Amino acid sequence: MRTKLIVGNWKMNGSRSANAALLADIVAGICAGNAKAAEAAVCVPAPYLQQCQDALAGTPVGWGAQDVSMHACGAYTGEICASMLAEFDCRYVIVGHSERRAYHREDSELVARKAQAVLADGMVPIVCVGETLAQREAGETLQVVGGQLGAVLELLAPEQVARLVVAYEPVWAIGTGKNATPEMAQEVHAQLRAQLAARNADAAPGVRILYGGSMKPENARELLGQPDIDGGLIGGAALKAQDFLAIIDAA
Ligand code: PEP
Repeated sequence: MRTKLIVGNWKMNGSRSANAALLADIVAGICAGNAKAAEAAVCVPAPYLQQCQDALAGTPVGWGAQDVSMHACGAYTGEICASMLAEFDCRYVIVGHSERRAYHREDSELVARKAQAVLADGMVPIVCVGETLAQREAGETLQVVGGQLGAVLELLAPEQVARLVVAYEPVWAIGTGKNATPEMAQEVHAQLRAQLAARNADAAPGVRILYGGSMKPENARELLGQPDIDGGLIGGAALKAQDFLAIIDAA
């Protein structure tokens, strides 16, 4: 049985005062009874990790980062390595978000090395995969996401498969208000699980595969009701406590 996981991706949003209110509202909502059966976490800009550690330690809400360097420490100006994130007790690190693939030219091999760095420091990589609109329209969705996940699986040892979270995020659905239908998402999630099983058949049934792309309170229940959708990676709706809590509730 996979515990549903709802992760907020704050992207490059926040301020110390706004974060304090948002985190307090999320914790209060969850403690007041919003779906204790689901797990919740927020992935925040690195300068706010200390604030999350202070506000969330001892609560049911986990926290993490949105990116990491593939390198260990050294002469890489501007980069943040996995051991630094681990010092803030991060549980999760997003790798391969489509915004990083698009704006920072990250390819699947780099994403795989980042996932490896996260695992090496005892955290859980949330490996994002997803097709563009042009790729979907060309019928290439399964091939594209298969290639993106395949690059990660190739680099990892089979036993590391159990420690992954995968997020299917169609690029055309991110921040656009257009979500994949539950059937479209389920088709991709089922293929991703089969691919995980080909690498480690024992681990695959326990790996959580999240859906991301305009998930909101109005569509969460139906998406999360699909057999292979084990949670959500939430952008815009994670910045409003009420919406985030409603999605956790749906989970
Ligand atoms: C995301 O950026 O990971 C995301 C899913 O964004 P949104 O929910 O805003 O589409």
